[in-house]
Amino acid sequence: MEHFIDDLNWDFKSKNSLRVIIVGAGIAGLAAGIGLKRAGHNVIILEQVPQIGEVGAGIQMAPNATRIFGRFGLLQKIMESANVMERNSLRRWQNDVEIGTAPLMPQVRVSVLKA
Ligand SMILES: Cc1cc2nc3c(=O)[nH]c(=O)nc-3n(C[C@H](O)[C@H](O)[C@H](O)COP(=O)(O)OP(=O)(O)OC[C@H]3O[C@@H](n4cnc5c(N)ncnc54)[C@H](O)[C@@H]3O)c2cc1C
Repeated sequence: MEHFIDDLNWDFKSKNSLRVIIVGAGIAGLAAGIGLKRAGHNVIILEQVPQIGEVGAGIQMAPNATRIFGRFGLLQKIMESANVMERNSLRRWQNDVEIGTAPLMPQVRVSVLKA
């Protein structure tokens, strides 16, 4: 969280409130719905499945996605149960020997700020 920097003022409202229907309650539909609702529109989200379940073991959120969570005021809550990836590690499947690595947060952010 100490590396989260976002200067955009997200508290804007649309002059005209629209009635918006979003088809699909995946991450795209839900994110669009939250953003439009916060901007003052009336949003209905339609989903074909009766219950939304968990798929897979975890999800990796890139900086652009976490920035949006920050603007929605959700990042603090998410960080309570998240792990911050510090590097990518490319390994051979036969013996787990590392053949390449790339730093991620927070080192990347720090080096960008220093440049
Ligand atoms: C195994 C796996 C692992 C992944 N891991 C990551 C990851 O770590 N990080 C990451 O960023 N991305 C990951 N992704 C990709 C990410 O999950 C997708 O890019 C993202 O979920 C797409 O979101 P979406 O809202 O566009 O679509 P979806 O999640 O597919 O949502 C679309 C929704 O619309 C509904 N829908 C469709 N048609 C209709 C209709 N006619 N009427 C009503 N509802 C409808 C569907 O039921 C669904 O709920 C992963 C994907 C998979 C398969």
